[in-house]
Amino acid sequence: TTDNQSAAQQAEAQIQELRSKLDQYNYEYYVEDHPTVPDAEYDRLFRQLQALEKEFPEYFSPNSPTQRVGAAPSGAFAEVEHEVPMLSLDNAFAADEMNSFIRRVQDRLANTSELTWCAEPKLDGLAVSLLYENGQLVRAATRGDGYRGEEITANVKTIRAVPLQLRGDFPERLEVRGEVYMTRAGFAALNEKALASGDKVFANPRNAAAGSLRQLDSRVTATRPLAFYAYAMGTVQPARQLDDDSHYQRLQQLRQWGLPVSPETQRLTSSQACFDYYDDILARRDELPYEIDGVVFKLDNIDQQEELGFVSRAPRWAIAFKFPAQEKMTTLLDVDFQV
Ligand code: NAD
Repeated sequence: TTDNQSAAQQAEAQIQELRSKLDQYNYEYYVEDHPTVPDAEYDRLFRQLQALEKEFPEYFSPNSPTQRVGAAPSGAFAEVEHEVPMLSLDNAFAADEMNSFIRRVQDRLANTSELTWCAEPKLDGLAVSLLYENGQLVRAATRGDGYRGEEITANVKTIRAVPLQLRGDFPERLEVRGEVYMTRAGFAALNEKALASGDKVFANPRNAAAGSLRQLDSRVTATRPLAFYAYAMGTVQPARQLDDDSHYQRLQQLRQWGLPVSPETQRLTSSQACFDYYDDILARRDELPYEIDGVVFKLDNIDQQEELGFVSRAPRWAIAFKFPAQEKMTTLLDVDFQV
């Protein structure tokens, strides 16, 4: 009917508008390290677009911001192709969404008698990939669009928490993934210095970490208080046969090889325990030395992870359960106006 036609036309226009807005916000966030809208607003528009695309699949586009992870490399750094794509995470913003995630996982798995989860804080920094050959750090890269990132080895080598040489019985070739972030204290000190010398201050720790990591001069990066936590393994060669191949065990293994892993990481054996973990971390949010925007739950069993696989931009076996937004943008604008 004509009613349906005009609804579809309206939807198409709305989809186009949302896509171009989100493309612009992505560019500002990932390439310029200078967001102009709060994350909560970005997330709202993103979900609106996802919902419209689901309702009107005829307007699918492989180039939609919902189909990708971040922005393409900006061109200033050499490009690195990821051997295993570096994807994003699906989000849950409320308990019912978390429950439907757990139900989806249960429905898809052949054997769901015991689901074990690995729970980790979701640090608000940026993802990096570290490649170790014969125990030496030989390459570091940003996530980029998930398939190709930027080579930032010289900058990452300045981060004290990143080992340049692995310890113990490490594999010949190992890729580690984790989050580069800035502590609140480091961020405050950096901005104080910037204010005193009349330099531009950073909007928030995430922004400061991103800007510091993408410096073309690694001597500048070396003066920035960057920190790192590992949260996943990529390629491991030769592959290791672990008795109990679990994500949690892999993190413990990384720790033995010298990589820092968040002390808040926990293995949980029920959905209730996941909700309790969320509540506990949320209650301690402001006492943590770094900013987090939620917690991440990953299905702990690696075989089950492989059974579930991936959708376009995220694994089916993990979710970021986000915390309520803290409106950082207002302070950003205040500070920007002062400077
Ligand atoms: P995301 O931030 O929702 O989650 C994925 C990322 O979480 C990973 O790449 C990794 O860097 C990080 N992470 C932290 N702890 C982790 C852990 N323990 N295990 C695994 N990963 C962990 O998704 P995204 O694709 O990085 O970014 C999208 C988000 O960025 C949006 O939801 C929005 O809030 C924000 N954003 C804002 C703007 C803006 O203009 N304000 C623009 C683009 C994106």
